[in-house]
Amino acid sequence: MIYQRVALIGLGLIASSMAHAMRAGGLAGEIVGYARSAETRAVARELFCDRVTETAAEAVAGADLVVLCVPVGAMEAIAAEIGPHLAPGATVTDVGSVKQAVIAAVAPHIPAGVHFIPGHPMAGTEYSGPRSGFATLFQNRWWLLTPLPDTDAAALERLTRLLAAMGANVDTMDPPHHDLVLAVVSHTPHLIAYTMVGVADDLRRVSNSEVIKYSATGFRDFTRIAASDPTMWRDVFLTNKDAVLDILGRFTEELFALQRAIRLGDGDHLHAYFTRTRAIRRGIIEAGQDTAAPDFGRAADAKRT
Ligand code: NAP
Repeated sequence: MIYQRVALIGLGLIASSMAHAMRAGGLAGEIVGYARSAETRAVARELFCDRVTETAAEAVAGADLVVLCVPVGAMEAIAAEIGPHLAPGATVTDVGSVKQAVIAAVAPHIPAGVHFIPGHPMAGTEYSGPRSGFATLFQNRWWLLTPLPDTDAAALERLTRLLAAMGANVDTMDPPHHDLVLAVVSHTPHLIAYTMVGVADDLRRVSNSEVIKYSATGFRDFTRIAASDPTMWRDVFLTNKDAVLDILGRFTEELFALQRAIRLGDGDHLHAYFTRTRAIRRGIIEAGQDTAAPDFGRAADAKRT
């Protein structure tokens, strides 16, 4: 056991996966949960929490670890509510997809003597809610921590031990760099997927039934990403604005360059570009972050979950 009492605030995909993983590994003495709706609280009580409370303040009382698992835009109100009820010596972490905005929202509400260690598990699916979690979600996935200048080394080591015991590879990064990296590897790709699916939906010359019928040619992979939770992703773009706009600017320039190559029939440009991008895919497979199985590893992934 690494923590005596863990309080999970917000009980969706990430929190429920953490609870399943902590239970499977015997990592927490007691798992207490709070979510906004009575319906979610009832599911959590049935599936993965030892105790569920009616308020966030009650959930954190006496907890030695508090994990904020609500959408980024909800972090500030939750932090303000729980701040006065945090136990001295407790650690507070979060799982928000953006770090600078969460730190600005949460840190002012953390009292002296409580350790705030912001974090972000780089694992997820397009499903959300308390029924969508599973114990192996974090296996071999990166969990980035963005410690603050005064972060307590012992508290950081203990949290790292918990995350590693849930199967994650833990790394630390400074918050602005985290937000830029995520804009490249996650946020902008999501925006592009949302756009492509929106374009297909708007296009009247190709019917929706054709789009669905022939989707395995590439479109299907965009639709999986574009099915991600609207609240979570609205908050990501509102709070990681600068980094996303920076990367989108570069993306637009590259897109125009490719558009020009197509117009001019510049096959050499297109071939060289696609050869470079193919090498990135190989690197991801070699790093164990995806499988080389055909069909983008769907069969292999289904076995994993
Ligand atoms: P989720 O499945 O949609 O669950 C969100 C939970 O937060 C729900 O239990 C919801 O309660 C609760 N909640 C929402 N607004 C609230 C509020 N104002 N006050 C109190 N509770 C509130 O979300 P998730 O996918 O677990 O994401 C949670 C966090 O993890 C987000 O910050 C997200 O950025 C981050 N994250 C997500 C992924 C991913 O791929 N999904 C990956 C890494 C990090 P109700 O059910 O009662 O509405």
